[in-house]
Amino acid sequence: MANANNLGLTPEQLARLTVVDHPLVQHKLSILRDEQTGTKQFRDLVRELALFEGYEATRDFGLEPMQVKTPLEECTCQHLAGKKVAIVPILRAGLGMVDGILDLIPAARVGHVGMERDPKTHEPHEYYCKLPPDVEQRTCLIVDPMLATGGSATAAIQYLRDAGVRDIRLLVLVAAPEGVRAVLDYDPDVRLYTCALDRELNDSAYILPGLGDAGDRIFGTR
Ligand code: URA
Repeated sequence: MANANNLGLTPEQLARLTVVDHPLVQHKLSILRDEQTGTKQFRDLVRELALFEGYEATRDFGLEPMQVKTPLEECTCQHLAGKKVAIVPILRAGLGMVDGILDLIPAARVGHVGMERDPKTHEPHEYYCKLPPDVEQRTCLIVDPMLATGGSATAAIQYLRDAGVRDIRLLVLVAAPEGVRAVLDYDPDVRLYTCALDRELNDSAYILPGLGDAGDRIFGTR
């Protein structure tokens, strides 16, 4: 596995990278990686990990005071200061993370960005995109379990920047050093969350040790 401090990132880039190292996350991630883990459990784990990660990625959301009357007395409590959120899965594996984040933020809208990798060049190719009409006013959580070369992620980030989105956070479960550098170099403001920093990419741009093809394992298509 890689260490965030050895990726050649600047201090500013390091500050935009969060590795979610909670013990429960690491435990679930180990089961996710296991080739013996079947489709149903894999899908459930992706959803749960997305929820944990969503928790971290929303940690700075603002609060405002509100009055609440408990059965005993009135007190000043806090509620979210009305931040609007869009979840933007990169098709198709990103779909597996949507419900976990919706469990946390039920009022979030969901946009879709369809990118597929050319099997030879590994370059992303856009085939379907649909965003909420007010997306530029929303914090956008782009979700994709795997950050490999960063090609799809940077294309999705660019798509959202072109749509006027200012606050973009990319949530992945497993990241390769190449992808982390590509994303943080590409966009000076995006924040990146991952549960693991893996060692490297192989010649087919799969992450090592990784977990295989996330889309195939979520949808049972391998
Ligand atoms: N996409 C995947 O699903 N797995 C990888 O290892 C890399 C990209």
